[in-house]
Amino acid sequence: MSATLFEKVWNAHAVRTLPNGQTQLYVGLHLVHEVTSPQAFDELRARGWRVRQPERTFATVDHIVPTRSQARPFPDPMAETMAEALERNVREHEIPLFDLSSGAQGIVHVIGPELGLTQPGMTIACGDSHTSTHGAFGALAFGIGTSQVRDVLASQTVAMSRLNVRRIGVNGRLAPGVFAKDVILTIIGMLGIQAGTGFAYEYAGDAIARMSMDERMTICNMSIEGGARMGYVNPDETTFAYLRGRRFAPAGDAFDRAVTWWRGMASDAGAGYDDRVDIDAATIAPTVTWGINPGQVVPITGTLPDPGAAGDERPGVEEALEFMGFRAGQRVAGTKIDVAFLGSCTNARLSDLREAAKIAAGKHVAPHVRALVVPGSQAVAAAAEREGLDVVFRDAGFEWRGAGCSMCLAMNTDRLEGREVCASSSNRNFKGRQGSPTGRTLLMSPAMVAAAAVAGEVVDVRTWLTSVPAAAGGGR
Ligand code: SF4
Repeated sequence: MSATLFEKVWNAHAVRTLPNGQTQLYVGLHLVHEVTSPQAFDELRARGWRVRQPERTFATVDHIVPTRSQARPFPDPMAETMAEALERNVREHEIPLFDLSSGAQGIVHVIGPELGLTQPGMTIACGDSHTSTHGAFGALAFGIGTSQVRDVLASQTVAMSRLNVRRIGVNGRLAPGVFAKDVILTIIGMLGIQAGTGFAYEYAGDAIARMSMDERMTICNMSIEGGARMGYVNPDETTFAYLRGRRFAPAGDAFDRAVTWWRGMASDAGAGYDDRVDIDAATIAPTVTWGINPGQVVPITGTLPDPGAAGDERPGVEEALEFMGFRAGQRVAGTKIDVAFLGSCTNARLSDLREAAKIAAGKHVAPHVRALVVPGSQAVAAAAEREGLDVVFRDAGFEWRGAGCSMCLAMNTDRLEGREVCASSSNRNFKGRQGSPTGRTLLMSPAMVAAAAVAGEVVDVRTWLTSVPAAAGGGR
């Protein structure tokens, strides 16, 4: 019988149906970081329990690490305490830790794939909502809360309710200057931030099939912002080519056997879906958020909505316009920015830095803009440095930082000040998200962030692909 990848992977990992109707699901890979794990480990210790499968559990530090200097001890005593707690916990339970001295540290959702830990057909859990990123490989990957982190540590299983599956087909070709970030922002804007509740999103269509793994990760990463519990792309030759030779991927004959199994986990042609949506890729423009949730988006050529025409959305539109200091009908292009942040698990992989560097090369950040490039991992940083991207960014006036979550969440020293407006390649624009309660975030693609940094304002990167307008901000 035809089935979706969701059904196949779910069924392959279902241990039993629990009395409350939920499924006890085996977790193939548990990723751990410093923020959501200390309490879970404390609870294990209090009960005298051990980690059930330390060989399927991997840890890194990302949220709290400073990115300017990563020397220990960290200047922030709270950050140092959290790092020490993780180190103590992984030592006690013999869990591999990719720390700052490993050369493999980074944002948990960046290092899992690049180490080859993330593989098709897996169930993957982490105490972080953007675990959905790993779905790009054809895995069921989902964020869990601290009490579930404890459950997975203790039993390698988690209780979950089965989800519906919505197939989102992106068909046709993206125009130059339009990226995966624009696709997912458009999807969220179109369907809304609640539409995914109770769903897994399956991203399909020829535009998705042409995407690199980095691009697919950007798409799956923001499934959460669309309300879905997880998002995935069926594994294909692009997936297998990415994984071949990675440190934790199967090697030799085992890799070929794995490919056969991975291929078989993809959704069958005749599989049934609970809902289907199709989007014409050619209609997608560079897209920017203008408000205080990731569904408040506008194409770069567009204007901000009129609350009077927003129907049920009116209170939210009014609140967002007021918080952002914008007015209805205003064009999003031309919005002055103070900070440009190129980073996060959404868009801080090597291909993201390459696209941004193409825009920044030979130009200079506008004098009034503070611009940061924060690679998603030490491996991304090293690869970028081998290509000289760090030099391109530094010469253009960007700060080149160490790997970490940085200003995406500002649980470290990278943060907005006061009412600053930030052009950001991250995934959330909630009030206070980037460290200042009154700071304002505009989400966009890495190339758009680089263009905004140089222009000093939000611009249409498509007009920068061949030449830079002479009047553009600090461009030289
Ligand atoms: S980069 Fe941002 S969204 Fe991603 S794991 Fe870190 S804090 Fe969470």
